[in-house]
Amino acid sequence: MCGTGGPGYRPTVPFPLLATPLEIGPVRLRHRVLMGSMHTGFEERPGGHRRLAELYAERVRGGVDLIVTGGLAPDARGRLHPLAATLTHRAQLRGHRRVTDAVHDEGGHVLLQLLHAGRYAFHPLAVSASRRKAPIAPFGPWRLSHRGVVRTVEAFARAARLAREAGYDGVEIMGSEGYLINQFLAPATNGRDDAWGGSPAARRRFALAVVSRVREELGPDAVLSYRISLADLVADGQTWDEVVALARGVEAAGADLLNSGIGWHESRVPTIVTSVPRAAFTDLTGRLRPHVGVPVVASNRISTPADAEAVLARGDADLVSMARPFLADPEWVAKAAADRADEINVCIGCNQACLDRTFALRSVSCLVNPRAGRETSLVLAPARRRRTVAVVGAGPAGLAAAAGLAERGHRVTLFERRDHLGGQFDLARRIPGKEEFAETVRYFAGRLERSGVEVRLTTSPGAGELAGFDDVVLATGVRPRLPAIPGIDHPSVVTYDEALRDAGRLGDRVAVIGAGGVGVDVATFLTHHAAPDLDAWRAEWGVAAPSSSAPRGGLVDAAPAPPLRRVHLVQRRRTRVGKDLGTTTGWVHRAGLRAKDVDTVTGARYERIDDDGLHLRVGDRPRLLAVDTVVVCAGQESVRDLVDELSDRHVRLHVIGGADEAAELDAERAIRQGTELAAAL
Ligand code: NAP
Ligand code: SF4
Repeated sequence: MCGTGGPGYRPTVPFPLLATPLEIGPVRLRHRVLMGSMHTGFEERPGGHRRLAELYAERVRGGVDLIVTGGLAPDARGRLHPLAATLTHRAQLRGHRRVTDAVHDEGGHVLLQLLHAGRYAFHPLAVSASRRKAPIAPFGPWRLSHRGVVRTVEAFARAARLAREAGYDGVEIMGSEGYLINQFLAPATNGRDDAWGGSPAARRRFALAVVSRVREELGPDAVLSYRISLADLVADGQTWDEVVALARGVEAAGADLLNSGIGWHESRVPTIVTSVPRAAFTDLTGRLRPHVGVPVVASNRISTPADAEAVLARGDADLVSMARPFLADPEWVAKAAADRADEINVCIGCNQACLDRTFALRSVSCLVNPRAGRETSLVLAPARRRRTVAVVGAGPAGLAAAAGLAERGHRVTLFERRDHLGGQFDLARRIPGKEEFAETVRYFAGRLERSGVEVRLTTSPGAGELAGFDDVVLATGVRPRLPAIPGIDHPSVVTYDEALRDAGRLGDRVAVIGAGGVGVDVATFLTHHAAPDLDAWRAEWGVAAPSSSAPRGGLVDAAPAPPLRRVHLVQRRRTRVGKDLGTTTGWVHRAGLRAKDVDTVTGARYERIDDDGLHLRVGDRPRLLAVDTVVVCAGQESVRDLVDELSDRHVRLHVIGGADEAAELDAERAIRQGTELAAAL
């Protein structure tokens, strides 16, 4: 990450600790960042290795030196789902060579992660230490016999041998997040009383056997990383002393690197979503480091070079691992090195286009960077003919379109009727736990400035003004839908837009009409304090402060702060509130509302709103919600006023984002459409 210059020239290194090289076993890394493991979905697709090679190669060109692949199962029983990739025989190596060659050609290193799902497998052949079904898996696992355990150890060894043949620089053994190895380590899932269970030392035996055999197969010239669970965050997980003993054992068995994981997938504590404070768990790696001689890697919610440098400066880790931030910005490392950290497209932890897609067995992309996964097919190449383009609306769709068009060489004017950029993202950033959305607006604002977009705030152009442009991009977004409920014009009624912009007009007792994504967000806004500090966040979720005396699994009783207001969240459907939210984030929102005693009302009919509050009928029974304020979150309508006016003029009109389709208001689609349009024009 160091800059270059003439003799005697010593450039200022913006993040000096990050820029310090490090030896990991046989490999010398140029800096202290690695791209952590993340399943992309390309592993299983025809042509997927080509896409994976392109994705990784772009990250290495952007400065990444070490990548850990998504996890591959060492045998068929260890697959996460029936179609998940394994590494079990030589015939599979061709595609892998494409990946390793691509990374090596660009000057990087790549480790293959070996992941045995154990009882998290979504198929009936799942195995584990004991027959204890995971709450998040559909099948109860088979208990591995002694022979089965030994065979599984050998499967890891065989896969490591194959990984070397495929050209990987080593492997990472996935020992965290509640997968098979972690299941052997915790009393919660290991009830055995043979050589593989019954005492902490016996529960560790499987992990240590895997590491030893893998080391034997790799020989001394390859990297062996072990991903250790530093806090299981489940009842009857490991104690801190057991974690330390495991780390020492893993080092003695041949690991070069201790990567870290926090929380099992079934844990009810969020560990990576937007609302988790940045670098919330690095004190755990900091506590582990003095006990081992190999480098220790911190992970989870480290997003910016400043975060990473602070982790290293505190002595909390030797290296920092990030996965999603490299989807969001492949040039993260290069920008940090060049003192352009403010140009980084920061991952906002939304999971919408990455992890939520992985769980739906789709390949990943990124909400804030639609080029992720489409490195060679979605390219903002210089335009052949320079056009003048008006973009109307500076929400996510308009921002992406304006920046992309100007970067291609078009002359772009961006009109925005408000006095600031951001559209729906400017609302989202006001929700406690979603403050990160401001990063995306900051990022696009920087791109607009650098690419010379003329930004005209507080301006609503008419059709006449727009008619002078070659192309007009309408990204005018949405307006809140006002349902036809008697009394909807009562002074107590506000739209979600008004509520989020001016909390001063909200009373202490509030009813929210509509319990979709926006209704849930607004209920969060109405009940939660903004940006709690780390101690308050731990209390909210029942996470023990790191110490030897912390209970097993690192959990204590949650002690959430009282709600800011009494809130009723109402919908007409009988389905569970927030049912359509993202797989990996919805449960966090629902748990947050439960912690604040939000009253959820389903199957409601709206009768009227008056001075007494919101009158409902739930089933046959009338119900009055005696509230001071009613916030309407009943969906949106597209703002398309200019479409008709412009259709008779000689301009090429493009309608994108919420203006195109309000029913599925979706920031991922908005930014993707804006970028695709920019690439195509
Ligand atoms: P939405 O998800 O479509 O929800 C609209 C809500 O309004 C529903 O609860 C609907 O429930 C109710 N509604 C619809 N028409 C109504 C009417 N005429 N009268 C009374 N109630 C009515 O829309 P949204 O909440 O505005 O969200 C928009 C999009 O953004 C969605 O795709 C959403 O997933 C996404 N988003 C997601 C998140 C997140 O993941 N955290 C956050 C914000 C937005 P009933 O019909 O049952 O009453
Ligand atoms: Fe980060 Fe969201 Fe992009 Fe995933 S989709 S990488 S969480 S910004």
